[in-house]
Amino acid sequence: MSVLAVKSLSKSFGGVHAVNQVSFTVARGEFLALIGPNGAGKSTCFNMINGQLAPDSGEILFEDKNIAGLAPRDIWRLGVGRTFQVAATFGSMTVVENVQMALISHGRETYGLWRPAASLHRERAIDLLAQVGMREAADRPSRELAYGDVKRIELAIALANEPRLLLMDEPTAGMAPRERNDLIKLVKQLVVERGISVLFTEHSMDVVFAYADRIIVLARGRLIADGDAAAIRENPQVQEVYFGTGKTFAHAQGAAP
Ligand code: ADP
Ligand code: MG
Repeated sequence: MSVLAVKSLSKSFGGVHAVNQVSFTVARGEFLALIGPNGAGKSTCFNMINGQLAPDSGEILFEDKNIAGLAPRDIWRLGVGRTFQVAATFGSMTVVENVQMALISHGRETYGLWRPAASLHRERAIDLLAQVGMREAADRPSRELAYGDVKRIELAIALANEPRLLLMDEPTAGMAPRERNDLIKLVKQLVVERGISVLFTEHSMDVVFAYADRIIVLARGRLIADGDAAAIRENPQVQEVYFGTGKTFAHAQGAAP
């Protein structure tokens, strides 16, 4: 059974077919990259799956339940996680407190005043921080973190919710190439251990080809290819939307949008 099955999904903005009759599946435990040039419809796809946008038509089956049009909170509760920005919301808390809040929220405990939360789940939160390589930062204020470290905390928070599908739209945006590679490598390691399926976008083709189990390609709202790294790299239609005719990924290392 697929964890996620998207069927004939469409969304227009005015006259723009941002997502046009798109269908694909994500298998259990699969690490699936969604790629395509800027404006291809990737974020619109993500936002329909996570509930921020209602589709015009089509189905989004999560574990066989149609979640199309449900509220983000309801989709999240069903087990669809996503990375989100911590710093803006919880900057005044320490790193470990941020993860504790996620654990509390996941368990749907009422904590009322701040005090009791201070000790609740601290050990589990520290353990999650250790897994993302941030144990040493546990008691530092979140607002002091470097950008790349915030991304690791976001990952710990996403994992605290024990999702079965994790959505990551440009998780490495703004990161240097080396950092991108390290973050995606870490994500893959952690989700494989847990059997979590992942749908992610990533601009670095080197990273996509290195880590994705399968790659799907959008261009102008349409799904134009679906296959493993070798098949996508050789696909003439994919090469054309990225580079125009005559060039390939091999000729354009690091130059992909
Ligand atoms: P990607 O994430 O692949 O770069 P998007 O899904 O953000 O692409 O955008 C797909 C198309 O839909 C683009 O033409 C974009 O301008 C348009 N679009 C996206 N969101 C909106 C919106 N809220 N209102 C109007 N047009 C939008
Ligand atoms: Mg986008």
